[in-house]
Amino acid sequence: MAQWIDGAALAKQIEAEVAAEVQKVQAAGVNPGLAVVLVGEHPASQVYTRGKVKTCQSLGMYSERIEMPESATTDEVLFAVDSLNQRSDIHGILVQVPLPPQVVARDVLQAILPEKDVDGFHPVNVGRLAAGNAVLKPCTPAGIMEIFKRHRIPVRGQRAVVIGRSDIVGKPVSLLLLHEDATVTICHSKTRELPSVAREADILIAAIGRPALVDDTYVKDGAVVIDVGVNRLEPLDKIRELFGEDPQRLADHARKGYTLVGDVHPRVHEKASYMTPVPGGVGPLTVAMLMANTVRAAAAQARISVFA
Ligand code: NAD
Repeated sequence: MAQWIDGAALAKQIEAEVAAEVQKVQAAGVNPGLAVVLVGEHPASQVYTRGKVKTCQSLGMYSERIEMPESATTDEVLFAVDSLNQRSDIHGILVQVPLPPQVVARDVLQAILPEKDVDGFHPVNVGRLAAGNAVLKPCTPAGIMEIFKRHRIPVRGQRAVVIGRSDIVGKPVSLLLLHEDATVTICHSKTRELPSVAREADILIAAIGRPALVDDTYVKDGAVVIDVGVNRLEPLDKIRELFGEDPQRLADHARKGYTLVGDVHPRVHEKASYMTPVPGGVGPLTVAMLMANTVRAAAAQARISVFA
């Protein structure tokens, strides 16, 4: 039976550490500032961006949300990014994805100054990550590495299998694991015999976006299982199939018409040694690492040392 990893508790710990670093940076005369750009009215993005701004402010940093209409053009978004690049009170810039289809996401992400790129998506930061000397690492992968560190879960020499090869999660977390001396296999939608490859893992990371795809046939006894997926599951019969009569899940469905589920089947809990829940696992850590990146970016721009 796995031990649940409480992502919210770890996030609180990290945020308390960030708040202490914020004070140091402020004592040196700099108030870290984060700008979050939201284009359009994507409901989940609205919730995420509000949460990021609020958390930033609760840690004593400055934060603002720039809202742009769904119809915004690439040039208009580039203009907004450029204005933020030039502001000395803004040290971190995050453009929330997904962007509306007419906006060329790659151009927008490349327009953010690398030193203000707190998501770590700019090609310069991707290159630094690959080389193993990144200051601003992508937040979700960095949050996953904090789980291992803070739970003293060994990584060196372990077999890690990452399912998913996105630029946001799969690829960067694979690189971070490699830099920590894991033996890493990256799987994706074209991988053959996925369950048997996954069963080799001491550390299994699922970043797919398919509800409960990873069942117990994918998991070796005692594996550490990190569930990155966030999926809305609507059909009540499917919710019951996964969670039985779990009152929280049924209440979610009654209130919102869905419950959030990960990529990992709840049955895996019986086989794993550690497992992250959804919600409340990796998600809160992503926000905490964004806060850490904001103070890091401000400190680096002012040549102040933090998290020493
Ligand atoms: P993505 O769609 O960009 O990538 C999905 C990856 O999964 C692809 O590489 C694809 O090859 C692979 N894949 C798809 N179907 C597969 C299958 N049947 N078998 C094996 N591999 C398959 O997604 P992403 O941005 O990496 O996000 C993945 C999931 O993680 C989503 O549910 C997303 O919502 C969630 N996510 C959560 C956080 C968080 O903070 N908790 C952050 C980012 C993403």
